Amino acid sequence: MLEYCTCGQRYDLDFRLVGYKKHISIDNVPILACPGCEHEEVMFGVRKDLQALLLSLPLEEEPYGLDYTDFNELACIAYTAFTCSEADTKDALRAEILENCEARINTLLDFYSFAREAGDQERMAEIEQRLAQLSAVACESGAARRYSPV
Ligand SMILES: [Zn+2]
Repeated sequence: MLEYCTCGQRYDLDFRLVGYKKHISIDNVPILACPGCEHEEVMFGVRKDLQALLLSLPLEEEPYGLDYTDFNELACIAYTAFTCSEADTKDALRAEILENCEARINTLLDFYSFAREAGDQERMAEIEQRLAQLSAVACESGAARRYSPV
Protein backbone atom coordinates (compact mmCIF):
# COMPACT_ATOMS: atom_id res chain seq x y z
CA MET A 1 0.00 0.00 0.00
CA LEU A 2 1.32 3.44 -1.00
CA GLU A 3 4.34 1.82 -2.60
CA TYR A 4 6.36 3.25 -5.47
CA CYS A 5 5.28 3.77 -9.06
CA THR A 6 7.58 2.47 -11.81
CA CYS A 7 8.58 6.11 -12.46
CA GLY A 8 10.04 6.33 -8.95
CA GLN A 9 7.42 8.55 -7.30
CA ARG A 10 5.48 7.26 -4.37
CA TYR A 11 1.76 6.67 -4.88
CA ASP A 12 -0.88 8.77 -3.20
CA LEU A 13 -4.04 7.21 -1.87
CA ASP A 14 -7.18 8.50 -3.51
CA PHE A 15 -10.76 7.46 -4.20
CA ARG A 16 -12.64 7.25 -7.47
CA LEU A 17 -16.08 6.73 -8.84
CA VAL A 18 -15.89 3.62 -11.02
CA GLY A 19 -18.47 2.94 -13.69
CA TYR A 20 -19.41 -0.56 -14.84
CA LYS A 21 -21.24 -1.32 -18.08
CA LYS A 22 -22.67 2.22 -18.04
CA HIS A 23 -25.14 0.88 -15.57
CA ILE A 24 -23.61 0.68 -12.16
CA SER A 25 -21.46 3.32 -10.55
CA ILE A 26 -19.40 2.45 -7.51
CA ASP A 27 -18.18 5.35 -5.45
CA ASN A 28 -15.18 5.54 -3.13
CA VAL A 29 -13.07 2.84 -4.73
CA PRO A 30 -9.55 3.19 -3.27
CA ILE A 31 -6.89 3.73 -5.87
CA LEU A 32 -3.20 4.53 -5.98
CA ALA A 33 -2.38 7.66 -7.96
CA CYS A 34 1.13 8.64 -8.98
CA PRO A 35 1.84 12.36 -8.51
CA GLY A 36 4.68 12.11 -11.06
CA CYS A 37 3.30 10.39 -14.18
CA GLU A 38 -0.41 10.37 -13.21
CA HIS A 39 -0.60 6.59 -13.51
CA GLU A 40 -3.53 5.22 -11.50
CA GLU A 41 -4.52 1.77 -10.42
CA VAL A 42 -7.04 0.19 -8.11
CA MET A 43 -5.44 -0.54 -4.75
CA PHE A 44 -3.97 -4.02 -4.84
CA GLY A 45 -5.78 -5.36 -1.76
CA VAL A 46 -9.26 -4.68 -3.16
CA ARG A 47 -8.87 -5.62 -6.85
CA LYS A 48 -10.21 -9.16 -6.63
CA ASP A 49 -12.98 -8.22 -4.24
CA LEU A 50 -14.12 -5.36 -6.48
CA GLN A 51 -14.17 -7.68 -9.47
CA ALA A 52 -16.21 -10.27 -7.58
CA LEU A 53 -18.63 -7.58 -6.41
CA LEU A 54 -19.14 -6.25 -9.94
CA LEU A 55 -19.86 -9.74 -11.24
CA SER A 56 -22.34 -10.38 -8.43
CA LEU A 57 -24.35 -7.19 -8.95
CA PRO A 58 -27.63 -7.39 -10.82
CA LEU A 59 -27.96 -5.31 -14.00
CA GLU A 60 -31.25 -3.62 -13.19
CA GLU A 61 -33.19 -1.68 -15.79
CA GLU A 62 -32.32 1.62 -14.19
CA PRO A 63 -28.71 2.64 -13.56
CA TYR A 64 -27.80 2.72 -9.90
CA GLY A 65 -24.93 3.56 -7.61
CA LEU A 66 -23.26 2.00 -4.60
CA ASP A 67 -20.73 3.11 -2.06
CA TYR A 68 -17.85 0.63 -2.05
CA THR A 69 -17.00 1.39 1.58
CA ASP A 70 -20.31 -0.31 2.52
CA PHE A 71 -19.08 -3.52 0.91
CA ASN A 72 -15.39 -3.74 1.62
CA GLU A 73 -13.67 -3.58 5.00
CA LEU A 74 -10.34 -2.35 3.65
CA ALA A 75 -11.96 0.37 1.53
CA CYS A 76 -13.93 1.48 4.58
CA ILE A 77 -10.85 1.68 6.80
CA ALA A 78 -8.75 3.39 4.12
CA TYR A 79 -11.51 5.91 3.47
CA THR A 80 -11.92 6.73 7.14
CA ALA A 81 -8.16 7.25 7.49
CA PHE A 82 -8.08 9.28 4.26
CA THR A 83 -10.81 11.65 5.41
CA CYS A 84 -10.20 11.82 9.17
CA SER A 85 -6.55 11.03 9.80
CA GLU A 86 -4.13 13.63 11.07
CA ALA A 87 -1.18 11.64 9.71
CA ASP A 88 1.11 14.04 7.86
CA THR A 89 3.25 11.57 5.93
CA LYS A 90 2.45 8.63 3.67
CA ASP A 91 4.23 6.31 6.08
CA ALA A 92 2.14 7.55 8.99
CA LEU A 93 -1.07 7.19 6.99
CA ARG A 94 -0.09 3.71 5.86
CA ALA A 95 0.80 2.71 9.44
CA GLU A 96 -2.53 4.03 10.67
CA ILE A 97 -4.47 2.07 8.05
CA LEU A 98 -2.60 -1.15 8.85
CA GLU A 99 -3.14 -0.62 12.57
CA ASN A 100 -6.86 -0.06 12.06
CA CYS A 101 -7.03 -3.19 9.90
CA GLU A 102 -5.43 -5.24 12.66
CA ALA A 103 -7.87 -3.84 15.22
CA ARG A 104 -10.78 -4.60 12.90
CA ILE A 105 -9.52 -8.17 12.34
CA ASN A 106 -9.49 -8.70 16.11
CA THR A 107 -13.04 -7.33 16.44
CA LEU A 108 -14.24 -9.56 13.61
CA LEU A 109 -12.60 -12.58 15.21
CA ASP A 110 -14.56 -11.83 18.40
CA PHE A 111 -17.79 -11.56 16.39
CA TYR A 112 -16.87 -14.82 14.72
CA SER A 113 -16.60 -16.68 18.04
CA PHE A 114 -19.98 -15.28 19.16
CA ALA A 115 -21.55 -16.40 15.89
CA ARG A 116 -19.97 -19.85 16.21
CA GLU A 117 -21.21 -20.23 19.79
CA ALA A 118 -24.67 -19.23 18.60
CA GLY A 119 -24.39 -21.69 15.70
CA ASP A 120 -25.18 -18.89 13.23
CA GLN A 121 -23.72 -20.28 9.99
CA GLU A 122 -24.87 -17.40 7.83
CA ARG A 123 -23.24 -14.81 10.07
CA MET A 124 -20.05 -16.89 10.24
CA ALA A 125 -19.82 -16.96 6.44
CA GLU A 126 -20.37 -13.22 6.25
CA ILE A 127 -17.62 -12.55 8.80
CA GLU A 128 -15.27 -14.93 6.99
CA GLN A 129 -15.76 -12.90 3.84
CA ARG A 130 -14.97 -9.67 5.68
CA LEU A 131 -11.86 -11.22 7.23
CA ALA A 132 -10.73 -12.28 3.76
CA GLN A 133 -11.00 -8.68 2.57
CA LEU A 134 -8.60 -7.66 5.32
CA SER A 135 -6.21 -10.57 4.93
CA ALA A 136 -5.16 -9.07 1.59
CA VAL A 137 -3.63 -6.25 3.62
CA ALA A 138 -1.59 -8.60 5.73
CA CYS A 139 0.09 -9.99 2.59
CA GLU A 140 0.39 -6.60 1.02
CA SER A 141 2.00 -4.97 4.01
CA GLY A 142 4.68 -7.66 3.93
CA ALA A 143 5.24 -6.97 0.24
CA ALA A 144 5.31 -3.23 0.79
CA ARG A 145 7.91 -3.60 3.52
CA ARG A 146 10.19 -5.44 1.11
CA TYR A 147 10.01 -2.61 -1.41
CA SER A 148 10.34 0.24 1.08
CA PRO A 149 13.84 1.70 1.16
CA VAL A 150 13.80 1.98 4.98
ZN1 LIG B 1 4.54 7.34 -11.84
